[in-house]
Amino acid sequence: MSALIIGLAPVAVFGVAALWVHARSNRVEIVDLTALAAASKRGKRSRTVDAVVLHQMSFSRGDDLHRYLKVTAHFIIVPNGTIGQLHPMSARLSASDGFNSRSVAIEFAGNLRSVDGGWYRPEDYGRDVLTAAQVLAGRGLLRQLRAAGIRHVYAHRQSSPKRGNDPGPEIWSSVGQWGVDVLGLDDGGDGYAIAAGKPIPDTWRSSTLTL
Ligand SMILES: [Zn+2]
Repeated sequence: MSALIIGLAPVAVFGVAALWVHARSNRVEIVDLTALAAASKRGKRSRTVDAVVLHQMSFSRGDDLHRYLKVTAHFIIVPNGTIGQLHPMSARLSASDGFNSRSVAIEFAGNLRSVDGGWYRPEDYGRDVLTAAQVLAGRGLLRQLRAAGIRHVYAHRQSSPKRGNDPGPEIWSSVGQWGVDVLGLDDGGDGYAIAAGKPIPDTWRSSTLTL
């Protein structure tokens, strides 16, 4: 569980208040970057937040949270499992297409594989593999969001025809499907998508690429 503990160093480095969530077990600590990310990305919500949408960035810049400040997501999870919060949950972001009004977005750093085991333009974006620390952090964050009232977990693929491998089998099988199976979150079920998005493939649910 050490991957869930970010310690004091990031707080000192960032010089901003971290959201220390004192907890019994399973709670994650979140580095508050909301003062450093562009407030111009934040819109007003038209409805209550009840969902989280999982994404992969399709690139990695390592573990330095400062290198991800322009990512359009509420939360980011870097390879060493550190979680940063870029925008308040109350803000609507243009992150997840048709899910934007009702959801918060989590972006995992990495150019991650599709179900065929290949990477998208690896010569440009690298060949990343989701880390165990990212899986633990993602699960912990989902658990925390569940406690805060989130009831649905979706893949960006479900709301966008251009995001077929977003978040991809590694993240879905180890974090999204875990949220469904363990936390009782709802992903809309087999065949569910909105607008021109595509449903979650069965191969994502059972992928063993990561674990
Ligand atoms: Zn996405």
